Amino acid sequence: MRVREKVQEVLREAVVSGSGTAPWYAKGLRFACTRCGNCCSGASGFVWVGPTEIERIAAYLGLSVEAFHRKHLRRAGWGRSLLEKPNGDCEFLERRPDGTTGCLIHPVRPIQCRTWPFWKSNLESPEAWKRTAAGCPGIGRSEAYPLPIIKAALQDNGRRPL
Ligand code: SF4
Repeated sequence: MRVREKVQEVLREAVVSGSGTAPWYAKGLRFACTRCGNCCSGASGFVWVGPTEIERIAAYLGLSVEAFHRKHLRRAGWGRSLLEKPNGDCEFLERRPDGTTGCLIHPVRPIQCRTWPFWKSNLESPEAWKRTAAGCPGIGRSEAYPLPIIKAALQDNGRRPL
C-alpha cells in the first residue's frame, strides 16, 4: 500500500472510531536523519525481515531467496534478522570517508528501518522519546512529521516487537 493510501486509511479510521484520546505526540514529531549511523550499529540487536521483505531485498541484490538466507540472515526467535558485522554494524551499513553513512539496500530496506524512530517503544511516553533522542541526533530537527504518518509507521510495525 502506498504512503498516501495508508495515510488516508488511518485518517478514515480516526474519523470513524472517534479515535479516543489524542496521543502525547498528536501535534507531530520533529525528525530529520543526520546519517550518523547510530541506529544501524552499536550493541547487538535485531533487524526483523518477513518473507516479502526477504524476497524484495534478495531481488535487489540479484540473489536467490535461498542464497540470501544463507549469506545475510540468522534465525531469531519467531523470525529472521539481518546479520551484523563483528563490530555491531548492520551488514548493509556503508561508512563513508566524510563520516556519514549510507544503507546499501536503502530503496528496499526493511519496514523496521523505514519506520525508525516512530516505534511503539520510542513513543510510549515523552520520556521514552527523550531517551531515544539521546542516541539519535535526528530527533528534534527540521519539520514535524504529522500524526497520520506516525500512526501509519506504528501500524506497519504492528507485528514486530518494536
Ligand atoms: S541515529 Fe538517527 S540521525 Fe543517526 S542515522 Fe539513525 S536515524 Fe539518522
